[in-house]
Amino acid sequence: MNTEKWIEKSDKYIMKTYGRYPIVPVRGKGCKLWDVDGKEYLDFLGGVAVNNLGHCHSNVVKAIQEQATTLIHCSNYYQIPQQIELAELLCSLSFADKAFFCNSGAEANEAAIKLARKYSRDKTGKSDRYGIITATDSFHGRTLATVSATGQEKIQRFFDPLLHGFTHVAFDDVAAIEAAITDDTCAVMLEPIQGEGGVNVPSPGYLAGVRELCNKYGLLLILDEVQVGMGRTGKLFAYEHFGITPDIITLAKALAGGVPIGAMLATDDVATAFSPGTHGSTFGGNPLATAAALAAVRTIVEEGILNSAEEMGEYLVGELETLHKKYPVIIKEVRGIGLMIGMALTIPGGDIVKAGHERGVLLNTTHDTVLRFVPPLIVSKQEVNEMIRILDGILKEITV
Ligand SMILES: *Cc1c(COP(=O)(O)O)cnc(C)c1O
Repeated sequence: MNTEKWIEKSDKYIMKTYGRYPIVPVRGKGCKLWDVDGKEYLDFLGGVAVNNLGHCHSNVVKAIQEQATTLIHCSNYYQIPQQIELAELLCSLSFADKAFFCNSGAEANEAAIKLARKYSRDKTGKSDRYGIITATDSFHGRTLATVSATGQEKIQRFFDPLLHGFTHVAFDDVAAIEAAITDDTCAVMLEPIQGEGGVNVPSPGYLAGVRELCNKYGLLLILDEVQVGMGRTGKLFAYEHFGITPDIITLAKALAGGVPIGAMLATDDVATAFSPGTHGSTFGGNPLATAAALAAVRTIVEEGILNSAEEMGEYLVGELETLHKKYPVIIKEVRGIGLMIGMALTIPGGDIVKAGHERGVLLNTTHDTVLRFVPPLIVSKQEVNEMIRILDGILKEITV
């Protein structure tokens, strides 16, 4: 089977929820992917910020192999050692005291929304205190509750009636949040840096201002770290850059080195709102996924990955800034923290992505005009240089 044959079969059997590129990756190692025809790609998308340790990191592979021969699944009616150890590790590395595990980012956000509502209800005795303020251009997932939380019309369209109780306000605007608070509000939910919305980095004081507001009005601060967590920004969690602690964070994407997992972390006080029967997940926190996550998290914190993300992030931004100076008509701005980097263009980025594919580099646009760089955190200087050389060549050929 070659690329063409796989595409034919895909068209026949796969629902069209994605506009897929004509590439069939079948093998990966580090920052490289190979397709079914043997073509090599330099991966600057990293599974959309999932492959923070690169493809098939040996520590993760070993953990999966060992766990797969020992115990793959076990019900949450029982105690699961790998899950308990992962919870302990994540709590020791964060503000949180307790963890809940599920299988995806959307599920982690669903859990956060339910926990915030239940907590507020328990605390105030008011059953109508369920409102959650989120940001315009946010992305929180594809389930109905998280679509309702997401501040993008293109994602909500066709699916109304949406879940009641979400208010969307401009990102990076503390006053807009305060103006939207009512007696019904129970929480504010934000991405510390917006991912799908175009790699939007807030002003330095924004999250501290939101934290203050939440304290003043007795609201929970939920941070969606599904994309920016797990070392992406050069710190294990993005909130650490902003000198605040949230009440709840959600994680997924890179948490288990590529194996599906989601997690919600919270303080003891907030976590007590969940009691047996209020929430759950059949697969959430299963031995296989949590063993992979334990290996991934340990590798990130013990093998200098955070430093690499910070250093390579600075290097990549520097190189992109050089391109910015060289192509000021096409490139508007380079922004980001660590290896969460966006390059805003004056034109749609689709053709640049396509040209990248032809020349062996996987690029991505988000929000149409923003090239997003979320490579594995283990990316080397040489690999950055190679991507920049290819991107330079593509930009050179564009006339606007
Ligand atoms: C990817 C993403 C999600 C959704 O995660 P899934 O695992 O696809 O459900 C939620 N929030 C943010 C910020 C994301 O980037």
